[in-house]
Amino acid sequence: MVEDLSCEESRIWILGKPVICNFCEHDVFTPFETYKNVEEPGIEVYFVNYTAVCMRCGCATQFNDPSHPSADGTDYIWAFDQTLLHPPEPEPPVVRIVDPETLQAQKTCLHLALQILVKEGKVGDTVLSLAKEMQYEQVVSLIRPNTQQPEEEITPVICLAIVLTELSSSYFIDGNRLYSIIEHESYPGVETFLREQLFEA
Ligand SMILES: [Zn+2]
Repeated sequence: MVEDLSCEESRIWILGKPVICNFCEHDVFTPFETYKNVEEPGIEVYFVNYTAVCMRCGCATQFNDPSHPSADGTDYIWAFDQTLLHPPEPEPPVVRIVDPETLQAQKTCLHLALQILVKEGKVGDTVLSLAKEMQYEQVVSLIRPNTQQPEEEITPVICLAIVLTELSSSYFIDGNRLYSIIEHESYPGVETFLREQLFEA
């Protein structure tokens, strides 16, 4: 049920009954609000009516809005229902720009991911096979300062690639930093999440 009809090509129901063109029996209309000046209860009192123009033959069908309070007075019965023939296009998805905090959080996830990989003994087969497919230029641009912010959110796989890049440039893992991150900055549920992403995909 709708409160008002929108003036667009549509099918219309009034209290569950479809509006049908009196002339050609087609059921697609463009409705317009129309105003009627009535002398009772007073001059300049207007009533809102509707005129629906048949999209096949142009014949106009007039009706009013029989919406009314329910019998027990606790509710209101809206009379109109309307299905648009050309519903509006959904909004295009918003591309999120990764802010520095998110990027830092994702890098923290990376360290946790790496730790899990090491614990699971998966560095050899998981990390190295991923590494072959990584787009290193993209990854490097993510972690080096003074480069453009990435325009898309980083996936766990890309996160992993960042770890690889950091490792390949330093040749070792900074254990103290890693443990510090895990101890002070870890995010609830992140280990479970990464396990699912990395091992059960
Ligand atoms: Zn018609």
